[in-house]
Parts: sequence; C-alpha cells; structure tokens
Amino acid sequence: MKQIVVISGKGGTGKTVLTASFAALADNAVFADCDVDAADLHLLLKPKIRERYEFKSGKTAVIDKKHCTQCGECITICRFNAISEDFIIDPISCEGCGICSLICPEQAVMMEENLSGDWYISETKYGPLVHAKLGIAEENSGKLVTLVRQNAKKIAEEQHKDHVIIDGPPGIGCPVVASITNTDLALIITEPTLSGIHDMERVAAVAEHFGIQTKVVINKYDINLKNTRDIRTICQNKNIEVLAQLPFSEDVNKSLVKCIPIVELCNSQITEDITDLWNKVK
Ligand code: SF4
Ligand code: SF4
Repeated sequence: MKQIVVISGKGGTGKTVLTASFAALADNAVFADCDVDAADLHLLLKPKIRERYEFKSGKTAVIDKKHCTQCGECITICRFNAISEDFIIDPISCEGCGICSLICPEQAVMMEENLSGDWYISETKYGPLVHAKLGIAEENSGKLVTLVRQNAKKIAEEQHKDHVIIDGPPGIGCPVVASITNTDLALIITEPTLSGIHDMERVAAVAEHFGIQTKVVINKYDINLKNTRDIRTICQNKNIEVLAQLPFSEDVNKSLVKCIPIVELCNSQITEDITDLWNKVK
C-alpha cells in the first residue's frame, strides 16, 4: 500500500481538483482530506458519513463563581487579556496556558478540554473517505491531520487497498508536515505565477528536509509560458521531475459547479492529461 499526498505550498492551485480526479480514477484506494482547516474534498466525492467522532484538543480556563473571591490576581497575570472585570473568561482570547489556574488562591479556575472539531469515516462511490472539520479558530490542526491519516491508513490495511490518496493542506506549517510525513510521494501542484513558484519552492524544501520523494505538476501551464519554463528550470536544478503540465480549462469550473471530479465531466485534453498523470503516479 502506497501513500500519495497532493500539496501545493500556495492555496488554490488545484489540489482538490486533482485529488478528486485521482479518486475517480483509482481502482482500490482510500482517501483522506487533510486540509482540515478548510476541508472541501467532500464537495466533490459526496460522502455518506458512517462514523462521526469528536476531536478534543487544548484547554480553556473557566472560573467557578462559587469559589472565586474576586481578588483579581488572574486578571493581572493573564497576558492575553482574556478575563473580564466581571471575572468571565473569553474562550476565544484564552490561549489555555493555565497560569491563572496555577496562581488562583481559591482553586477557582478549572481547565476544561476543548471540543475542537469532528472527524468522520465516510463511504463514497469511489471508496472510503476519512475527513474532518476543525472548529472556527481552533488549534492543533496537525494533530487532527495525524488522526485522519492514521485512520485512513488503518482502513487501507484492513481492506487491502493499494493506495491512500491524501488531499493536503496549503502552506508549509504543522498540518503540511503532518500530511507528508512518511508518505511515498509528495505531488506538488503549482501554477505559473510568482506566488505559485515561490510557494512551490518552499514546500519542496520542506519535503526534501523530511526525505519525501517529490514530483511536480504545473497546472494552467499555458497562462504564462515564461513562468512555466522557469518552474521547469527550478525543478531541473533541484532534480525534481515535472510529471505533467495541465492546460487551463473552463471545464474545471463546470465540474466544480456540478460538484463532480473533472474526469467525470467530459473527455477533453485536460481529462486525458490527468488520466495519464494518474497512470504515471501509480
Ligand atoms: S484568581 Fe481566583 S479567586 Fe482571584 S479573581 Fe481569579 S478566579 Fe477569582
Ligand atoms: S489560561 Fe492563560 S490565557 Fe487563559 S485565561 Fe488563564 S491566564 Fe489567560
């Protein structure tokens, strides 16, 4: 069983469009949406949720008014100004550092576990999907990504699947590191824009740091041929193979409006190219 992650550095370059098409083309795979801050693979794969679990992470302080003597020490020490003059803690401002509960002379502050989101095991017509929804402004998305990946891998092993196909998050932070760790291939999808090139280089450096085999796909290569040549040169210098370059296509927008993978919309140049790409990735 091989694990393939689609990442980009920059958001909006086509990760989910590509992952959903791979899902439609793969014969025997499990899918994982690791972009837990802004999950959207479910919009194209239309899962039926089979199992739902709470994701608890981090802590928030709560004052027990019965024991609080209103001495004000917690207000003074909280560097996040999370405690109001009437001794109510704003859960958005509270960073969960716990110092107020340590210094409270009455032990009136409790640290309560946060419900940070939910994660799901679902069924799609293409195979099982493990996905999640992180709450607004909640943290620890890296932990949630790891949870999603662990469960996708477990299902793949139990059901003898050939691949785990992962829709990765944008950027280069903790959720990206959690998404690429121990995968067999990181497929970077980029676009020929300056920010696309810059962020491709950054995420390629992260993948290299962790020793992950990396390949590149240039999406909408024909919107700027000079930048496409620059991407090819950068990849050549870094010894990273460019596996495909996909043309700009309005069919992508049409498939998104219909909420289906592009390879199921029509037969066109881009769907042929994506099919060839999947065969190479396999
Ligand atoms: S430190 Fe404790 S007793 Fe003092 S105001 Fe805060 S919660 Fe109340
Ligand atoms: S846990 Fe930390 S951030 Fe939250 S209210 Fe207490 S001191 Fe402030």
